Amino acid sequence: MSGLHDLTVAELAAKLRSKDLSAVEVARHFLARGAVHEALGAYLATDEAVTLAQAAAADQRIAKGEATPLLGVPIAHKDIFVTKDFPTTAGSRMLEGYRSPFDASVVAKLAQAGMVTLGKLNCDEYAMGSSNENSAFKPVKNPWDLSRIPGGSSGGSAVAVAARLAPAATATDTGGSIRQPASFTGITGIKPTYGRASRYGMIAFASSLDQAGPMARTAEDCALLLSAICGPDPDRDSTSLDVPAEDFTLALNAPVEGLRIGVPKEFFGEGLAPDVRAAVDAALKEYQKLGAKLVEISLPRTELSIPVYYIIAPAEASSNLSRFDGVKFGHRAKDYSDLLEMYKKTRAEGFGDEVKRRIMIGTYVLSHGYYDAYYLQAQKIRRMIADDFQQAFKLCDVIAGPVAPTVAWKIGEKSDDPVANYLADIFTLPASLAGLPGMSLPAGFGAGGMPVGLQLIGNYFGEAKLLNAAHRFQQATDHHQRRPEGF
Ligand code: GLN
Repeated sequence: MSGLHDLTVAELAAKLRSKDLSAVEVARHFLARGAVHEALGAYLATDEAVTLAQAAAADQRIAKGEATPLLGVPIAHKDIFVTKDFPTTAGSRMLEGYRSPFDASVVAKLAQAGMVTLGKLNCDEYAMGSSNENSAFKPVKNPWDLSRIPGGSSGGSAVAVAARLAPAATATDTGGSIRQPASFTGITGIKPTYGRASRYGMIAFASSLDQAGPMARTAEDCALLLSAICGPDPDRDSTSLDVPAEDFTLALNAPVEGLRIGVPKEFFGEGLAPDVRAAVDAALKEYQKLGAKLVEISLPRTELSIPVYYIIAPAEASSNLSRFDGVKFGHRAKDYSDLLEMYKKTRAEGFGDEVKRRIMIGTYVLSHGYYDAYYLQAQKIRRMIADDFQQAFKLCDVIAGPVAPTVAWKIGEKSDDPVANYLADIFTLPASLAGLPGMSLPAGFGAGGMPVGLQLIGNYFGEAKLLNAAHRFQQATDHHQRRPEGF
């Protein structure tokens, strides 16, 4: 069976439809690989019986002649999506042993499409982090170099795909958590326009920023998955947009001749490591060869996106996480003398350091006397950052640049320095704050042979254009086909 795990989602789907493979045999193969490579730390929960039952059901649908594009293909879900058939922890002790009575909308939509769930994937606690070291359970290792972090917060999702433990994974991006781990592990990932994918059942971190999206090895696979994920969910997510679902595969092959690619000068300053710069420059040259035109643009408030995000995201988190009080879900402290002590002990025991840090920052910036000085100012600058993009999109069709200033760093290297982690988010935060779609695709390799991603940012509802540009690039290059040695 070797080689089955090298097939893309599109290839697996075709072999399932033609009955060259059965969904049960594909699921078994990936479950076995997950077990062999358990030391990577990608999975937090698996359940063979549940997975095989879903696979058998998919085989029945195929036998009846159903030919939907994702039928029978396995996927694993970031453990921030609630699932009724698997436990959900959000990477936190607070939710250890928690089981949701329902599936998140994204999970339900992929199940309706016939995808088979392989399990739940490790992540930073409540999706807060850039390295996956904030998971309460275990770190995730980067298959390209086991001494390095895979990126975060969707590190388990990225590693499951990069190490071929799953052909695809769901993930979430609040400030870069799809794009940055995709970049650090040499895979492809896309975050749609804010509001295109339902947030129902996605454990909330910062509600005005959180967005779900797929991770896979190719842009074509991401297009297939995103088509199933997006769509209105008005009864269950009030910020879900009334924009119909779209088939993102239709435009994949459109030519990129004449495409105007905006290159923001602020993304290529001093902080960008030379190895990352070289890979990104080479990718931009490749686009020129394909007939695209490079246009210099400016996103003048790029630097401000860090303080703005690290005010707004903690503010929303401090409010969202108030629901974890020992009464409604998950962990409750054992010994306490009254209600207040129960709250305090429960939250002290259940949350990790980074989560506590953000609750404190968030509570502070929202408090009387500081609200105007911090939160309100941050909201104003957030609007200006969004306006800057609209100025830029007068000159270009898509924006391209690095995803992160460096390749994946060593495990432990920044774990005592939260600010160093925050600074590394500089190139992903602007699109998040503006609510724009963004993606990462493999652009080449940098220091230590580590993968480097190219970030593409589109205007609102520009997902099809991003996937088209990424697909054309992948047809001309083979970075996305390279695999970490031993996997
Ligand atoms: N690294 C950012 C943070 O720590 C983004 C995380 C995310 O997108 N979930 O908040």
